[in-house]
Amino acid sequence: MALCDLEQTDREVYDLICREEQRQQHSLNLIASENHASRAVLQALSSVMTDKYAEGYPGKRYYAGCRVVDDVEQLCIDRAKALFGAEHANVQPHSGTGANLAVYMACLKPGDRILAMDLSCGGHLSHGLSINMSGQAYNASYYGVRHDTEMIDMDEVLSQARKVKPHLLLAGASAYSRTIDFAAFADVAARSGAVFMADIAHIAGLVMADVHPSPVPYADFVTTTTHKTHRGPRGGMILSKEKWAKKVDQAVFPGIQGGPQMHCIAAKAVALKECAEPSFRQYAAQIIANAKALAAGLTARGWRLISGGTDNHLMLVDLRSRDGEIDGDQAQRWLSAANIICNKNKIPFDSRPATHPSGIRLGTPALTTRGMKEPQMEMLAAWIDGILAGHGDEKTVARVAQDVARLCDNYPIPAVR
Ligand code: PLP
Repeated sequence: MALCDLEQTDREVYDLICREEQRQQHSLNLIASENHASRAVLQALSSVMTDKYAEGYPGKRYYAGCRVVDDVEQLCIDRAKALFGAEHANVQPHSGTGANLAVYMACLKPGDRILAMDLSCGGHLSHGLSINMSGQAYNASYYGVRHDTEMIDMDEVLSQARKVKPHLLLAGASAYSRTIDFAAFADVAARSGAVFMADIAHIAGLVMADVHPSPVPYADFVTTTTHKTHRGPRGGMILSKEKWAKKVDQAVFPGIQGGPQMHCIAAKAVALKECAEPSFRQYAAQIIANAKALAAGLTARGWRLISGGTDNHLMLVDLRSRDGEIDGDQAQRWLSAANIICNKNKIPFDSRPATHPSGIRLGTPALTTRGMKEPQMEMLAAWIDGILAGHGDEKTVARVAQDVARLCDNYPIPAVR
């Protein structure tokens, strides 16, 4: 994108931004939590909206001069409510973690009990891990996945809920490749007297496009990030039932944040408009079709996927499933050397440490944004297999790097289109 003034003012930052643009253009991004925002979203982000202080909410601000930002925030709220079918939306959270902390503050007292998905089975650290505020302020317990299916077992969730008696039951994950049955979670919450929160940070785009069931009808609170399958700016959002609206708003501001980032809110509004287009529904369906194609390609070459496959945008590869011991850290480095970018990741019941886990997590949202489809996923499966099966052998990596470069040239990222 043209950044003429920046080039004049600060050549160093300008060069770094150009380098990052080139890095993104010349690599294949399989990080399941990342995506490429549109040029329109990027333009809203770099607008004068960044200059405005607007503590409070539309019509109730602590600063003068908020007439225009009131309109942009209200537009964003209205679009979020309409798209998700939610009673209330707060679009101010600066991040997904912030959105989660605000919900806890809205409905829990310090020391209250949370029941959430175990990090080692795909959960997120803001769901009560001791190194996160959520684990220090609240008392977290976990449900996992079954040993045999590696999927969530709702009977286990219910029996855990009966044992723990959580104040808040949380559904949602960072590394779970199967459809989450939000209606069943709501049922467990109702039976155990808990409020129900769904964190759809990863799957929000799939939910909006109706290719994954929505938790909105069932959950007291739904939190999300806005930059993953959602494909907007980096940030968070909370949807809730009307009865929680006041508590949610108070928890976000002044509870955990100061002034909202109005440029981000403007960009969130743009992304929501894009998500309402019929083409977004096709995009979301293609994310899943691509994930299934990549999963099939890897499975056909002997790689075992956790739970046997995927229903959504991501998959976890069990690196113990082929000859020779390799770990996620090696796999991430070897693939990265060929400009295939992914995460090392623990797999359920992993005996290895998080620094050298037994898996990698692969996701298709970013490649799908670039227009790639099933044939490209089949090529990618062959390249990943070649590099991993060859234990990062230099010749294979160099050959695949050339193939990756050719593919990238044919599928530009939005910023360089
Ligand atoms: N919730 C889930 C399920 C996530 O996967 C993530 C991020 O990966 C978050 C919350 C946190 O989002 P953020 O990085 O914006 O704080």
